[in-house]
Amino acid sequence: MKHLLLKILVLIFSASIFSCMKKSIEFTNILIISIDSLHPDALSGENSPNISGIMKKGNFTLKGKSIDPPKTLYNHTAMFIGKHPREIGKDDNEWKEGEPRVGVPTIFRSAKENGYKTAYFYSKSKLGYLATPDIETVRFAGLESPEEALSFYQNQNNRSFVFLHVSGLEFTGIEKGWMSPDYLQTLYIIDARIKPVIDMIDKRGKFIIIITSDHAGHGLLHGTDHPDDFKLPFIFYSDVMKMTEIQDAVYTTNMLKRIVEKILMHKF
Ligand SMILES: [Zn+2]
Repeated sequence: MKHLLLKILVLIFSASIFSCMKKSIEFTNILIISIDSLHPDALSGENSPNISGIMKKGNFTLKGKSIDPPKTLYNHTAMFIGKHPREIGKDDNEWKEGEPRVGVPTIFRSAKENGYKTAYFYSKSKLGYLATPDIETVRFAGLESPEEALSFYQNQNNRSFVFLHVSGLEFTGIEKGWMSPDYLQTLYIIDARIKPVIDMIDKRGKFIIIITSDHAGHGLLHGTDHPDDFKLPFIFYSDVMKMTEIQDAVYTTNMLKRIVEKILMHKF
């Protein structure tokens, strides 16, 4: 029942996104950016001029939600495997180098099978759990992940599928509070640092960019039952697709894999 509901939600969401898509379109660049701990209410022309520009050109919902618990590894794993990590026996938010990695196919398997060069840049060591052999270029880049992604694009011209995880907001959130002036300033800096990557994709054309997050927070806390901790944006922009409204569509992190597979396999 749970899986049927998920499938129906993905179909509704995808139908909204892809309704104007022509079957013949093949994307050269698929880029997913996950900005860790991004509260959707923080996005504005002032705080995030580049992301806000993409929201205007593409489409978005600010009503996306984390799976429970709203924590980093749980939700990135849900994005990668399309289900709650508990369903594959992973029921904690920790991973260390040397421990087993995810043992089921992820979004990267689908991308590789569809002929894309695959790359994964991440900022938190625990996300190494998701670095499987299906990924050709893997970098644990700390706070330099946007620059690593830019360098990847500068050095290759193939069809590529890239997942870029960007840290920073969670640290400011814990120290100064979600939505605090410092938090908004950190967002402004992150927004500027991902701009060159987005500009490069934009220049190359035939792209899809998804900007999303794993969870938000409230006060100095995150990962709790507070409704704000579950909030996240889903922003979608392509130069070759006209998109319909998704602002009220239901989106949860475990839907990302099926949405990406529809993009990869042109099934819409
Ligand atoms: Zn996180």
